[in-house]
Amino acid sequence: MHISDGAKIILNALEDAGFSSYVVGGCVRDYFLGNINSDTDIATCAMPYEVENILSKKNIKVVETGLKHGTVTAVLNKTPFEITTFRSDGEYLDSRHPQNVKFVSDVSEDLKRRDFTVNAMAYNDKQGVVDLFGGREDIKNKIIRTVGDPNERFNEDALRIMRALRFSSVLGFEIEENTKNAVFNNMHLLRNISAERIFAELQKLLCGKNVLSVLDEYRQVIGVIIPQLEPSFECAQNTPWHMYTVYEHIIHSVKYAPPDSVIRLTMLLHDIGKPYVKTTDENGRDHFKTHASKGAEIAADVLKNLKVSNEIFDKVTTLIKYHQSVENVNDIKIKRWFNKIGQENTLSLFDVRIADLKAHNVNKPEVKKEIDILSELKNQALELIEKGEPYRVSDLAVNGNDLIALGYRGVQIGEKLNEILSLVIDDKLENSKSAVMNYLKKI
Ligand code: ATP
Ligand code: MG
Repeated sequence: MHISDGAKIILNALEDAGFSSYVVGGCVRDYFLGNINSDTDIATCAMPYEVENILSKKNIKVVETGLKHGTVTAVLNKTPFEITTFRSDGEYLDSRHPQNVKFVSDVSEDLKRRDFTVNAMAYNDKQGVVDLFGGREDIKNKIIRTVGDPNERFNEDALRIMRALRFSSVLGFEIEENTKNAVFNNMHLLRNISAERIFAELQKLLCGKNVLSVLDEYRQVIGVIIPQLEPSFECAQNTPWHMYTVYEHIIHSVKYAPPDSVIRLTMLLHDIGKPYVKTTDENGRDHFKTHASKGAEIAADVLKNLKVSNEIFDKVTTLIKYHQSVENVNDIKIKRWFNKIGQENTLSLFDVRIADLKAHNVNKPEVKKEIDILSELKNQALELIEKGEPYRVSDLAVNGNDLIALGYRGVQIGEKLNEILSLVIDDKLENSKSAVMNYLKKI
């Protein structure tokens, strides 16, 4: 196996001091997958203070990043390396935290506590690959399988359930039968896991290449972490525009969205309001009026429960609220959208609506046409941004002081500036000081 020069320097330093040391986990897995760009984690029988001593003698900077778990971080050529003392986890009482971690001298104990066979391999130049649980075989067969009994492992730490789904999605691997059964048998334990940890795994899961089949096959697990989505599982959409149930439409739209975790999260939640507002008319056709605003409300609850950042909260609820407002593609005024929700959000809104439409009944020519128009609008939006076209009051060639000089006072100033902005946005007035001043003097 090839390891980076930085990792070699650290391994050699520790080995020379008499401590057996390996690169472990994700980087070994990724090497056998043919990806070599992942972070290199190191495991050693040296205690953290010994690691610090040994490396600082070699002038390598060491930061204490997780002493409780035996982790320090060494920084070499600006690249961080997490170095963790071999440990075995004590008993887990709350499906979250081991009661105590025990430092051990043997790498095999350390590998045994790791979650999946593909993540439980170690390597150094002296010993070669240490693969005690068939990790390489499982990589070859594209299988996610827990190390040891899956029910026990999920009971110890239920986050591993989300991690199984995440790795299945990202790597495009199937979850092995017993592990899969244990996922369903233990998924309720996810309720004990902190929202932040679940959300971190969910974001990665959503960007995986296998996301469609994972969201489909493991929808019950998604229902545990986002119960508000459950009504969409069986919610039919009897309209010519659709060919899927609400949930099937949702998960297809996730797949069609660019692999950006916030946009994909938006897709996951964009139609969450539909089952709550569904009506069926006398011809048996379904309607979902106001589902976008209802959806934004429900999504706000979901996002609060997941404890997402304010930034993600604002973006996702905004995009959901407006995802249906760009329905009439011929009426879309790009700069108006810039003004209403910002430039970033406008670009994302086009991405969202395109992904949404791709998961509609694409046999309808109207749907294809709308997708084309929206793609063109997105290009235009990019050009407008590039050109620095004005879309906010602060972009105008005049400001409040100019208006005061002309005799405007109080609320009039803001009103007038907005009136000018409106004209400028609609290309009815040039955004230059002379043009705007002329306009103001005329009235
Ligand atoms: P990524 O490329 O996403 O960082 P990774 O395999 O490095 O993938 P991490 O979450 O960084 O994943 O974890 C590093 C390693 O620690 C894993 O490969 C695995 O061996 C172990 N590990 C992480 N979380 C757990 C867990 N909850 N239970 C058991 N082992 C875990
Ligand atoms: Mg990692």
